[in-house]
Amino acid sequence: MYVSPNSGSRADLLVIDDTLANLRLLVNLLRENGYKVRAVSNGYEALETIQKSPPDLILLDILMPDLSGYEVCKRLKLDVNTQDIPIIFLSALSDGLDKVKAFTVGGSDYITKPFQVEEVLARVKNQLTIQWHKKQLQLEILEREQAQEALRVQYQREQALNRVIRSIRNSLEISTVFSTAVTEIGQLLQADWVAIVQHFSQHRSWQPIVEYFPNSDLAKLVNAKLSSPRYLLTERLKLLQTFCVENPQEILDEFNQDLVEQYPRIWLQIPVYSDGEVWGSLSIVRHHSVPWSETDVELAVVVTDQLAIAIGQSQLYQQLHQVNQELEHLANLDGLTQVANRRRFDRVLEQEWLRLRREKLPLSLILADIDYFKLYNDTYGHLAGDDCLRQVAQTIHQTLKRPADVVARYGGEEFAVILPNTSLPGALQVAEHIRQAVFNLQLTHQASPGKGVITLSLGVSSLIPPMDEEQQILIQKADQALYKAKKQGKNIVCKL
Ligand code: GH3
Ligand code: MG
Ligand code: MG
Repeated sequence: MYVSPNSGSRADLLVIDDTLANLRLLVNLLRENGYKVRAVSNGYEALETIQKSPPDLILLDILMPDLSGYEVCKRLKLDVNTQDIPIIFLSALSDGLDKVKAFTVGGSDYITKPFQVEEVLARVKNQLTIQWHKKQLQLEILEREQAQEALRVQYQREQALNRVIRSIRNSLEISTVFSTAVTEIGQLLQADWVAIVQHFSQHRSWQPIVEYFPNSDLAKLVNAKLSSPRYLLTERLKLLQTFCVENPQEILDEFNQDLVEQYPRIWLQIPVYSDGEVWGSLSIVRHHSVPWSETDVELAVVVTDQLAIAIGQSQLYQQLHQVNQELEHLANLDGLTQVANRRRFDRVLEQEWLRLRREKLPLSLILADIDYFKLYNDTYGHLAGDDCLRQVAQTIHQTLKRPADVVARYGGEEFAVILPNTSLPGALQVAEHIRQAVFNLQLTHQASPGKGVITLSLGVSSLIPPMDEEQQILIQKADQALYKAKKQGKNIVCKL
């Protein structure tokens, strides 16, 4: 049996000859040798038959009255549906066979009449074998092209996935992680809507916190329905299941039922979990005709895993940030009096000095020292001394009005007040208020040679910071003013 290069069954031959005796002879010969054979006796009929059902091989007489074999051949070669069918010309040498022309018009071979049985069979078999190999080759090429295309698609996806993972890992800000993730996965899966939906267990609600919807209004509607707490799908998410919505029966509300009916398998839900509990979901909607493939789902799950890691890291980062802020706060505070410490004083003074130097505005400093404090400690003990320091510190703090003013514990029983953008008269006024306020506390200090209560001496300095000076100049001047106040009998404000 001679196998057809197309179907794998018996080869299907068409013999075309206007001489019926020849036709019959060939048909019989070929049939006897296992071929399926059709026969026609003129060119037009042949073209029609071939159009209807193309054979595997054509044996074509050259000399025919209405349409010559050459002409039939030419027409077949012009049509993409028939151009690959091999043609063996039939001709008597006495008919003036033009072999070159036979090949030029597209013939594959020729047989001369009178026929020799072995030759006919050999040439037919030969053409069928060539044709079979050709088909095999074409098939192989097609398969390779398909495999190559599949590889290309897979490569592109892997690249895109790597990009998503990289950008998720490279961003410290969780909001950047989220927006990158939804955009990338949206583009990768050609989705109409992608959202990261967070589950708030206290309110039993699901809120989209970031969304990607490139071109669909439908997406917004989906979103509106998704966040409903009575929404059945969310219950499944809580069970940490990845699933595709297929069955409209699964859905309570009419709108979403319609949606799933119209576009089955459009909805992909992947739970995001953190610390073993559901944190939320990655929800993807795609309503074109292609349903979610296993690869799509795998890809989305990989991205979701990365998201979960990023969320965990971000939560740790936030905790760390909070602890750091508390530490920073503590590091700037004086433990005893709860006002700024010396470290913070140095920083603020330098900052303000530089700022006001640029702006050419005055900076004032008050140094305040408790009078006869050693005696106070000696009289009432150290604990009472501490308590006194706390009260004085808080009193100074309460006297200050502007947010930029800062009181700090400068040393043992000495306090410093930084007054940015305040000229000397203003600073003297603040210092006098402080002196008065501490005096008004009426903290008994019997041993004091002064008023019998705790009092402060204050030195004030004020400058528009000069270009060639450092802030220490302001401290020195305030210190000298304080020394003056002590010298002049204490419980007073002095300037330099
Ligand atoms: P003057 O009127 O000239 O300022 O005399 P003074 O006694 O206040 O000054 P002096 O510098 O001689 O003494 C300061 C005292 O402040 C000595 C120290 O025992 C006390 N002191 C410093 N830091 C603390 C503290 O943290 N707690 C207590 N209770 N006392 C402190
Ligand atoms: Mg003192
Ligand atoms: Mg002192």
